[in-house]
Parts: sequence; structure tokens; C-alpha cells
Amino acid sequence: MELQINAIENGTVIDHIDSEKTLEIMNLLELNKEQGTIMVAFNLESKKQGKKGIIKIDGRILKDEEIEKISILAPMASINIIKNYKVVEKKMVEIPDIINDVIKCHNQKCVTNFEKVPTKFYKEGKKYRCAYCETSIKKNNIILK
Ligand SMILES: [Zn+2]
Repeated sequence: MELQINAIENGTVIDHIDSEKTLEIMNLLELNKEQGTIMVAFNLESKKQGKKGIIKIDGRILKDEEIEKISILAPMASINIIKNYKVVEKKMVEIPDIINDVIKCHNQKCVTNFEKVPTKFYKEGKKYRCAYCETSIKKNNIILK
């Protein structure tokens, strides 16, 4: 079944979100404070992913640093910029090899969890490794700061 979600005039469409990350991305973008129309769907059937989510934000073009955080949370997400109901740009953000102050370390004893130290993670294949305590975090288990 194809679910129709209304098109937006100008703004951003985030598609192919890992379904369970949809609400996290809404929080990340603080969509509760947004004035324009927002359409959200998740648990949509996807041949590629099983279940996926979509977020459409009318009247807002995402910044590159916001797109970078989305890519870290949901690596398969695609971001389309819409103008006059047409996709004018597909944003692909390459996740950097060193990620500063975005990911939270899972190790409770890590210095970044009890002192005001920015976190630093190295990308290593499908994992990220904390520069301070060497804890490795799988891509699907990431928590943003
Ligand atoms: Zn750590």
C-alpha cells in the first residue's frame, strides 16, 4: 500500500530514516518549536529497509551540521530540499572520520560523562570509537549528546 503524504511547497524532506530513529530526529531538530507544517510517518513499508520513516518540514531548509547529525543517527536517510514543490537539491553528507561533540559515550566512567569535555569519536567501519576511553559504539546504538 502506498501512503500519500501531502507535498510541501518549500522546505526539507527527510526520507529513508531508520524507522525507530524518526522520533529521535524530530527531537534533534526541535520540531516541536516549528511554526510551519510538519508531516511525519514511520513504520512505513520499505523494500530496502524493512520499515522506514519520513519527515517533511515546510518552510525550513536544514543546515549542514543538522544534516550531519541526521546522517550519524540514520545513515540511510536521504535529504531533499524542496522549492516550489520540486526537489532542487539532494543533500548527501559524508560523515567525517573524527566526530567532535555529537555522540554521547556509553561508558558511564568515561571522562566525557562527568566532566565538561567535548566528546570525540573515530569512525571505524560500522562503529565509532571514543578517543578517551576506547569504547566502541555500533552505528545503530548511537545516542547524540
Ligand atoms: Zn568514552
